[in-house]
Amino acid sequence: MDHFTLQDGVLHAEQVALSLIADAVGTPVYVYSRATLERHAQVFKQALGALDNPLIAYALKSNPNLAVVRVLRQQGFGADVVSGGEMQRALMAGIAAEDIVFSGVGKTAREMADGVAAGIGQFNIESEEEGFELAAVAESMGKRANASLRVNPDVDAGTHEKISTGKAENKFGVPIHRAGEIFANLANKPGLNLRGVAVHIGSQLSDLAPMETAFAKLGTLIAGLRGAGHAISHADLGGGLGVPYKAGEIMPSPADYGAMVARVTKGWDVRLIFEPGRVISGNAGVLLTRVVRVKRGGNGDPFVIVDAAMNDLARPALYGAWHDFVAVAPSGERMTANVVGPICETGDTFAMGRDIDALEAGDLAIFRTAGAYGATMASSYNSRGFVPEVMVDGDRWAVVAERIEPAAILAAEKVPDWLE
Ligand SMILES: *Cc1c(COP(=O)(O)O)cnc(C)c1O
Repeated sequence: MDHFTLQDGVLHAEQVALSLIADAVGTPVYVYSRATLERHAQVFKQALGALDNPLIAYALKSNPNLAVVRVLRQQGFGADVVSGGEMQRALMAGIAAEDIVFSGVGKTAREMADGVAAGIGQFNIESEEEGFELAAVAESMGKRANASLRVNPDVDAGTHEKISTGKAENKFGVPIHRAGEIFANLANKPGLNLRGVAVHIGSQLSDLAPMETAFAKLGTLIAGLRGAGHAISHADLGGGLGVPYKAGEIMPSPADYGAMVARVTKGWDVRLIFEPGRVISGNAGVLLTRVVRVKRGGNGDPFVIVDAAMNDLARPALYGAWHDFVAVAPSGERMTANVVGPICETGDTFAMGRDIDALEAGDLAIFRTAGAYGATMASSYNSRGFVPEVMVDGDRWAVVAERIEPAAILAAEKVPDWLE
């Protein structure tokens, strides 16, 4: 459920007409709904209501905007971060260091040291090599880093190959059949407080069964590690719950997910950690765009050329992803069209031969479900700037990220004097 609805024939974010935001800020622009973020956070918390004090560490990478993270902090969420930059953002948004989990296969020594110095709650170690390095970094600082070992359960999450992370051939985690041995090699390091295990098998999962398989394997591993004398107090189940991108698409509900987790983890006797991203932020944002012109098409269908492009919203170009596309002020007429951006690449295509609201040059439209992996994946390809972000709260709204003009990006470039 979201708060982007038609009111008096015009799409609103909560109580603010999207046309008003477009006129004030220009297009393209990302628009987030605070009420939607809060609702998703509450639904997720309720879904885990049967568990004892879980830590919900919002995956910043889905939408790291400071205002978004602040809303989720107010909901009691921690943060899952995957870089020093994300850690900085989480801390700046006011998330307590102990509620931050640091994931990622390529943490640098510098990032580890910064995390240890900040006192973050947990590092998720993704390889034996990384574990040794983290131990050395923490020991050299006279500290012990809390850590869990991320395992790769070799489960096919059934999602797009580029966002599948739990198959043996993926780069994430240590092979689950070697986890016992690697855990033992790391557990006695003075720089580490190795206290748990972690798993995250992929994103946009439309089926709970692969997650259940992975969690069950984790349960077996926990029992084995305890049998070998290790103390296990934490288990991190990652994120990955899918969201509907097409009207009418059915995804597993957070409640079903929570019930499955409660069933599978019964008796584990650990603090559970969750890292939801998309399920919180995805439907809380739209990308608002204006039609530049409508061009007669070669194959019969016209091209609706919008001012948003693959550099602003990369998912269609990256994953062939679908985003519902609707007019801000629909006339009731329909058309079949190809929806494309202005970038000089055929990949800059949002939809082909799609039945959409009839649109003309100058009309406004939105790509729905753009709150996750939207603005954060933007680039300045074709020397376009970075799109601004707006948050709506009831009848008020604010720019929460300024537009970055091409000139500002250009200012960082220099021609060496030997080219003068
Ligand atoms: C990307 C990621 C998440 C969040 O995934 P969603 O599908 O957005 O829920 C959680 N944990 C880790 C380690 C990730 O890499």
